[in-house]
Amino acid sequence: MRLSKTFIKTLRDAPKDETAKNGALLVRAGYIHKEMAGIYDFLPLGIRVLEKIKNIVREELNKIGCEEVLMSSLQNPEPWEKTGRFSDKEVDIWFKTELSAGGILGLAPTHEEPITNLMKTYVSSYKDLPRYVYQFQTKFRNELRAKSGILRGREFLMKDLYSFHTSEEDLDRFYAEVEEAYGKIFSRLGIGEDTFETFASGGIFSKFSHEFQTLIPVGEDTVYYNSDKSLVFNEEVFNEEVLDEFKAKKEDFQATAGAEVGNIFKLKFKYSEPLGLKFIDEENALKTVYMGCYGIGITRVMGVIAEKYADEKGLVWPEAVAPFKYYLIGIGEKGTEIAEKFYQGREEEVLYDDRNKRPGEKFADAELIGIPYRVLISDKTLTEDMAEVVDRRTGEVKMVKIKELMEK
Ligand code: ATP
Ligand code: MG
Repeated sequence: MRLSKTFIKTLRDAPKDETAKNGALLVRAGYIHKEMAGIYDFLPLGIRVLEKIKNIVREELNKIGCEEVLMSSLQNPEPWEKTGRFSDKEVDIWFKTELSAGGILGLAPTHEEPITNLMKTYVSSYKDLPRYVYQFQTKFRNELRAKSGILRGREFLMKDLYSFHTSEEDLDRFYAEVEEAYGKIFSRLGIGEDTFETFASGGIFSKFSHEFQTLIPVGEDTVYYNSDKSLVFNEEVFNEEVLDEFKAKKEDFQATAGAEVGNIFKLKFKYSEPLGLKFIDEENALKTVYMGCYGIGITRVMGVIAEKYADEKGLVWPEAVAPFKYYLIGIGEKGTEIAEKFYQGREEEVLYDDRNKRPGEKFADAELIGIPYRVLISDKTLTEDMAEVVDRRTGEVKMVKIKELMEK
């Protein structure tokens, strides 16, 4: 991508009300635009990061047999009324709207009800199970507070996966597969070392659910961990009764801030029962389908990665999610000519700063935007037939032969 051809610009200042580091940096570096609190637009660079995150999640889910769909945001109240969740008293974050022909619709804050309803069309026998269905979809939640940048949006991107089974054992088996897939996803995303599977409250059908909490100061949750972090609890379940169950002692735990990047839940019959999702088993008996649900906050993950790696000069993306691999600068006549040559055919991995600006400004923007490697080709580096490659994260400077660079 040529910086001279894009409408985005880096900004000196973030909006005054943008107090979170991730939000401020992402706005200043031209990844997102803020509409209002908790409501953001994603710009060309921002979309590229989201797509990289989505692709990592997609690859790992497809490996365990999941199928991708895209469901509607506008919600028919009917299935939600069957579970009692259309009521604003039950679910206090609904955005609702009206049909001009009359009648109320909701903007989906999650999709358990419509997916359960949808599966009724396709599941009737044990032969139709198990099935695993997911989507990347915009969710709408009328959150009371939205002060953590893209970590808490009123409109945000979630990956939500739902699984359907004939038995509890099969649900348990798949749940464990998702736990493992999540481990791989978070480590590929560069937050594996800071992300812990955490016990959280379960609900009517299971004692615990699990959250994936990234330990980071901007996190809105409080989690409690023991010395080797082999046990991590969220606030809801950090009590004497639960600790006794794990033969653990309160004083061995420490509190810290966590950002919930994912959440997995054994729903069992919570939705399939009220919505009537049933199947005929091998003995011809009518049974209720067992369900699980598994979320990842895609935009929240982007904010967590931004926040975790940023330094005083700006963003620092791990290569796996960076919008581009190289930030290219050519200086001088010959330098620009060779830079152009390097850019040809590498439009997808090179962000080429071909703007008519002073080198100092380009260096500052390179640091703010946070592409992993800055490649500088100037008449000076060319006297030795070299390009200068700077690692954004470590600051390490390497001189690389032009011939070698062209082979990259
Ligand atoms: P939280 O406790 O943070 O409000 P939640 O428990 O309501 O989240 P889920 O309904 O389980 O969240 O949603 C699945 C995932 O979506 C969460 O683990 C989180 O990563 C993400 N998520 C939830 N709410 C938001 C939001 N307002 N903005 C961005 N991501 C969100
Ligand atoms: Mg939660």
